[in-house]
Amino acid sequence: MKLILIFSALFGAALCLETFVGHQVLRIKIKNEEQVRKLQFLETLEHLKLDFWINPSTFSRPVDVRVPANSLQAVKVFLESHRIEYSILIKDLQAVLDREKQEMVASQQTERSSNTFNYGIYHSLSSIYEELDNLASEYSNVVSKLQIGQSYEKRPLYVLKFSTGGSNRPAIWIDAGIHSREWVTQASAMWIAKKLASDYGNDPSITSLLDKMDVFLLPVTNPDGYEFTHTTNRMWRKTRSKNAGSLCIGVDPNRNWDAGFGGSGASSNPCSETYHGPYANSEPEVEAIVNFVKNHGNIKAFISIHSYSQLLLYPYGYTTTPVPDVEELHQVAKEAVAALSSLHGTKYTYGSIISTIYQASGGTIDWTYNQGIKYSFTFELRDTGRYGFLLPASQIVPTAQETWLALKVIMRHALEHPY
Ligand SMILES: [Zn+2]
Repeated sequence: MKLILIFSALFGAALCLETFVGHQVLRIKIKNEEQVRKLQFLETLEHLKLDFWINPSTFSRPVDVRVPANSLQAVKVFLESHRIEYSILIKDLQAVLDREKQEMVASQQTERSSNTFNYGIYHSLSSIYEELDNLASEYSNVVSKLQIGQSYEKRPLYVLKFSTGGSNRPAIWIDAGIHSREWVTQASAMWIAKKLASDYGNDPSITSLLDKMDVFLLPVTNPDGYEFTHTTNRMWRKTRSKNAGSLCIGVDPNRNWDAGFGGSGASSNPCSETYHGPYANSEPEVEAIVNFVKNHGNIKAFISIHSYSQLLLYPYGYTTTPVPDVEELHQVAKEAVAALSSLHGTKYTYGSIISTIYQASGGTIDWTYNQGIKYSFTFELRDTGRYGFLLPASQIVPTAQETWLALKVIMRHALEHPY
């Protein structure tokens, strides 16, 4: 009976899930500016339906791209004819997705029979939302749940508030999953929520933090996209809003903020994965956070969690002009990364967005920094491309644990350096 259930679950899922049979993820090593330009040209060829996991920017960083089966030959010929070096990171994407799905079905069954949320596996949106309520009731002395708005498809945007009282205390904001396919971020955010709640009264540094400051945590910033990655297309990144005059769906919510909006490092093409949207804050998910931050008025640190690449970044992304606090932010990032690496030896790079990865306009933390939130950071969690967005569930807890150490450094710094 169990087997039948598993099979029907798999088969049912297969009926509507987009498949990626024969898709490969290539890692391209760029040697010079000329090759950057060649790859940027490749990016414009829409008929190839390429999905850049890491965009071509400078030749210091490799490019990762998902290539559909029927574009593989063309892309490989293109690269070889321009003597651009590449290797195959993932040989058959669907095989990896099948393993992920099988593992998830099996572990969720075990979870159901044990009746406790397993922080080491990936979950549907509804199980995550259920666990938010469980946390709020189990740790009602310190955790409450608020809704800050709703998504394009009218799903609630839930924030956990960690607070021991006071009114409008200085606060720290943490969000995850603004890009829906970055599954380790939503999962890590849930582990972090549990850790933060259970460490109050047990870990002196968290106790003293929550005695003076509040923490707001939004674990699923893009719930429509997240639901879509479970039901239809595991590789979905953007929101699910309709675009006037185009059949392509969705806006890149990390290009939709009012900071250098529409500049370089964002696309005006609705079919692009980095489409900035029709105007700043057009996405209700972004607008909800903007309103929350403005109404609150006392947020001192803002941390937005992405994957992958193992980076800790600070503003700016839209301009090469350094932020006035560059030295302090650089030092905090350095200490945070050292703490992170101390646990499992995971190596992180840190710096400003534009100097470390590429120019990106309309990004979250550029806007928050310009709002006066000095301690604005973005994480890019594990890994560096072995699995990319398809990080095995066995790495969720180690990822969350090491990230927690870095977060603690940033939070303590914000606590000890009031402004
Ligand atoms: Zn992202």
